[in-house]
Amino acid sequence: METIHKLEYFVKLCYRVGMQNNRIFDLIVIGGGPSGMMCAGRAAELGSRVLLIEKNKDLGKKLSLTGGGRCNITNAEFDNRAFLANFPEAKEFLFSPFSKFSVKDTFDFFEKKGLPLVVEGRKRAFPKTQKASDVTDVMARYIKENNVEIKLGTKVVGLSKDKDGNFLVETKSGDSFIGQKAALASGIGGEGAQILEKLGHAVKEPNPNLVPLTTDAAWVHALSGISLSFMTIRFRQGDPSTCRGQAKTMLKKTGKILFTHFGVSGPLILNSSFEVKKLLEAGPVIASIDMFPDTEENELDRRVWRLFEQNKNKMLKNIIPGMMDKALAEQILNFPELRLAEKEANAVTKEERKTLVKRMKDLCFPITGTLGFEKALIADGGVALTEVNFSNMTSKFHPNLYLLGDVLDINRPSGGFSLQLCWTTGWVAGSDGVKK
Ligand SMILES: Cc1cc2nc3c(=O)[nH]c(=O)nc-3n(C[C@H](O)[C@H](O)[C@H](O)COP(=O)(O)OP(=O)(O)OC[C@H]3O[C@@H](n4cnc5c(N)ncnc54)[C@H](O)[C@@H]3O)c2cc1C
Repeated sequence: METIHKLEYFVKLCYRVGMQNNRIFDLIVIGGGPSGMMCAGRAAELGSRVLLIEKNKDLGKKLSLTGGGRCNITNAEFDNRAFLANFPEAKEFLFSPFSKFSVKDTFDFFEKKGLPLVVEGRKRAFPKTQKASDVTDVMARYIKENNVEIKLGTKVVGLSKDKDGNFLVETKSGDSFIGQKAALASGIGGEGAQILEKLGHAVKEPNPNLVPLTTDAAWVHALSGISLSFMTIRFRQGDPSTCRGQAKTMLKKTGKILFTHFGVSGPLILNSSFEVKKLLEAGPVIASIDMFPDTEENELDRRVWRLFEQNKNKMLKNIIPGMMDKALAEQILNFPELRLAEKEANAVTKEERKTLVKRMKDLCFPITGTLGFEKALIADGGVALTEVNFSNMTSKFHPNLYLLGDVLDINRPSGGFSLQLCWTTGWVAGSDGVKK
């Protein structure tokens, strides 16, 4: 009988130790976005026992929405120096990780996983299938094939060190796990920022960086969904009620503008938003679109005059659309100072024609602000770069803690640069987390 009890006790002990061991991992990755999945997959591929914890029910929820559902996965600039020139404040830090995993490595990685990439304008690279969800699927397969343990729908609420220097990861549901190493890949803000502050890091508040601009001009809202290519937009400081500003243009860019129900968006606007936000801090801002940036005002006036001569008896609403988008023509012709839509060309005075031409070259509207943080494609904020060891992406305060992707305070433009940062930082950390 005593032997049976001893045996029972032994079995229970083995079970308990086994259970505990089950909860000890070489690496625990917090966040199942692109940087977390890359890190987890790579570390597991190299033999580490990895747990990935994600608070959503699915992996890569945001990743599946990137690039308007197409995922601008990287930017096809294969020269590291030229690529990193897009990160003016961070490039010196990034040379080391990019020497280990570059844009070319991203192309090779996805190609080998059966997802070749194609390059479009401005060197933006997309999966050939044009589906962001395929990128998420590749990453999810990568971690599953390498036996990463995955806990979905599990929110991490605490990260602290135990007496042995391991990380104790606590979740909202009350479960806790121990990792010899941990990787914080939880994106910008949220619990990740609180965790980092508790661990002694300085975390900059998130600040929307690439974000659409808002206006209260009803004619802009009415054009929602229309995009105009090869337009020049100027931003100047001035009185929004009259649309008259100081002569000095503070910022001028040319490209594609998208009208929305709240204002303007598209790559040109997003890439201007950081500077426009700064102008807004100094006072009211007026935007002015030049629809014919390659044509001088006098020459444009002659073009309009010729158009009127050729269509003397036609109403302007039927001939101006020959020069621009029909809906935009309708809005402009109905501006209170014009009201020319129903007028025949031969009845338009020289003064009216000149005002019309002026508006084509100076289509102005007030900028009232930017859409908030939640609509930002990129927000700066996060851990100060001086607190990170970029040779292996660890915290300088906690050498067994990796800091990845959007957790880092790196300012960058749109065009695939953010996701490349995730692939690079995730890979470098995952490669460092090899079981010794
Ligand atoms: C609409 C939109 C479109 C974009 N398009 C592009 C594009 O085409 N190309 C490009 O380069 N960049 C794009 N970006 C930026 C890009 O999506 C981000 O830079 C990138 O997703 C950051 O990856 P990450 O892994 O660092 O964090 P995230 O993708 O934010 O992933 C973090 C993960 O951690 C999880 N998490 C957070 N807190 C916890 C917690 N406490 N416990 C457990 N899990 C947690 C989150 O649920 C999330 O799944 C876009 C952004 C947006 C908003």
